[in-house]
Amino acid sequence: MTELLSNYLAGRAQHGTGPGAPLFDPVLGHELVRVDASGLNLAEGFAFAREKAGPALRAMSYGQRASLLDAIAKVLQARRDDYYEISTANSGTVRNDTAVDVDGGIYTLTTFAKLGQALGERHRLVDGEMARLGKDPAFQSQHVLVPTRGVALFINAFNFPGWGLWEKAAPALLAGVPVVVKPATATAWLTQRMVHDVVQAGVLPQGALSVICGSSAGLLDQLQPFDVVSFTGSADTASIIRSHPAISRRSVRVNIEADSINSALLLRSDPAAPEALDLLAKEVAREMTQKSGQKCTAIRRVFVPEELFEEAAEAISARLAKTVVGNPRNDAVRMGSLVSKEQFVSVREGLAELKAHTQVLHDGAAHPIVDANPQIACCIGPTLLGARDPDRNSQLHDMEVFGPVATLMPYRDTEHALALLRRGQGSLVASLYGSGADMLAATALELADSHGRVHVISPDVAESQTGHGNVMPQSLHGGPGRAGGGEELGGLRALNFYHRRAAVQAATTVLCALN
Ligand code: NAP
Repeated sequence: MTELLSNYLAGRAQHGTGPGAPLFDPVLGHELVRVDASGLNLAEGFAFAREKAGPALRAMSYGQRASLLDAIAKVLQARRDDYYEISTANSGTVRNDTAVDVDGGIYTLTTFAKLGQALGERHRLVDGEMARLGKDPAFQSQHVLVPTRGVALFINAFNFPGWGLWEKAAPALLAGVPVVVKPATATAWLTQRMVHDVVQAGVLPQGALSVICGSSAGLLDQLQPFDVVSFTGSADTASIIRSHPAISRRSVRVNIEADSINSALLLRSDPAAPEALDLLAKEVAREMTQKSGQKCTAIRRVFVPEELFEEAAEAISARLAKTVVGNPRNDAVRMGSLVSKEQFVSVREGLAELKAHTQVLHDGAAHPIVDANPQIACCIGPTLLGARDPDRNSQLHDMEVFGPVATLMPYRDTEHALALLRRGQGSLVASLYGSGADMLAATALELADSHGRVHVISPDVAESQTGHGNVMPQSLHGGPGRAGGGEELGGLRALNFYHRRAAVQAATTVLCALN
């Protein structure tokens, strides 16, 4: 039997009492470790975080808590090689893809550490200016933001076991709120190891960071009115969480990051069209293959002017053809595997369904699987589909295949293109390609109500742009409608979720003393 990983709860390592669920190497197929959360005293764990770690964190200033984030980043940096090994083994990722998860998490921590240092020795934040309430100018209202006196529960998806923890924990801890994370079971090892290392290093108050690996049973029942829950995963699980009594009756604040049919749009009538088309092809191929397309932000739909359909198909396919797929331990391999057999089956089924409505422009099945047994490895080549009549096929705008798959579609005019993008019913991100600041800005604004982020790639920023799918801590991550309606990151805006806003109505002298 493989090692049973410990949970960290109530400030100590605790093993589940059951045999545990196995985690596998998705390339080689063998069992790696086991996780189990059965028999844990969840009530004790949540109470410990709320009553012991919460006050300890809130006693510190923002600047002091920013130093905690720096200390966490140093612990992780020192053990980076271990995380790369775990990622390769448990997520099947090549080094560059591991970097997005591991180094992306460390970068997010250090970014929030810098933002927090700038808040200095403050213990609370004021929101806006004082506002007069009546005739007496001495009686006014001032809004304040104070850390919530609860626990932040994170329920995370399988695709970012590293970054997915730290992009949420950095603002929570900076705000002074203890964290309990429940990673997705299939890839829980990396999250567990990172928490283990940080707890063992003793850089945080006891109980400020807990991890529960395995079943989610009973977790939501622990939530009390001042707790918050941040969920990342499928729309189906999101709706179960939304209807839980903790959320529906106790008004526990919830943030949902769900699935999203993100788009790339090549604008027309552009003197720089050839360059823009090349930029689009490069970005689409990268988005399809990075982390084997298992990114919530990955491009799933590609829209080009109808007269450029063939050219775009060729340009993207030519780039995809160069992708070497297989065992991430082989240096020639550029794209590793999906995270599990379940995901492999799900991607194959989803692809088959999309294929029924499209033509195959580049066939992933033509890619040999390098240095791995195709009967065992969850590797799948990138597939570009094409749909000449995007108005008719609702599946193209509804179905998320969480793998290296995208569909190319033609549009007639800008109005048509925008209508097609909006059929995603709210997405995390859209990217625009073209030149001409006015046209790009106008199109970005048109998409701003239905997208959390609009990423504009013009030739002048071809080298410096940060990537369609890369979630930068300075920018908002989330999206309306189908994308879950959540908001994460966005610099210090991220702190709002972990604070309570209140209006204090008092004499101006009292309000001045709030600072
Ligand atoms: P999932 O099945 O919904 O699982 C997500 C998390 O919820 C896992 O930790 C899972 O635990 C847990 N969970 C499952 N059932 C639950 C329940 N009844 N109560 C509480 N928690 C429960 O999603 P997934 O398959 O892991 O993730 C893939 C999806 O996530 C994709 O659709 C992708 O688009 C989306 N995603 C979105 C974002 C974003 O930022 N918007 C980022 C990444 C992924 P177990 O693993 O133990 O079942």
